Amino acid sequence: MAQIKHCLHCGHELSTKSINGRDYLACPVQNCEYVFWNNPLPVVAALIEYRGNVLLARNKAWPPKFFGLITGFLEKGESPENAVIREVKEELDLDARVEGMIGVYPFPEQNQVIIAYHVSAEGEIRMGEELAEIKSVPPEKVRPWPFGSGHAVKDWLDKRSHH
Ligand SMILES: [Zn+2]
Repeated sequence: MAQIKHCLHCGHELSTKSINGRDYLACPVQNCEYVFWNNPLPVVAALIEYRGNVLLARNKAWPPKFFGLITGFLEKGESPENAVIREVKEELDLDARVEGMIGVYPFPEQNQVIIAYHVSAEGEIRMGEELAEIKSVPPEKVRPWPFGSGHAVKDWLDKRSHH
């Protein structure tokens, strides 16, 4: 991930500053004192039910065997629900309906917070540019992965099996 080195306000080189016990990159110039907070970014994730199965996708940037949920960033001013519906449309050309929120999951390795939704989707799949492959898996055969959006998959499967 790219690391910033210079102040976004005055251009001076940043240095490390401890604030409330955490280290941040900060501008040492008096009257500037810009702090690069590096706040986590929200990411929406869609667990998609489609014709009775769960859709898992492999992003072109991912390793060959790894499949995950459809995820994406929010656009300026966009609600998370609208973002997840838009992402499903962009990446699979399916019309999604939000069935409920699964949960909110910190993903510190990526400096993200995942907002995961259960959606149902209709239409004919047409893969978008970001994806390499899709698979359609019966829910009982889905194996959650132990990081990121995998926690949402596990919670959804657990809740489902108790009904
Ligand atoms: Zn500065």
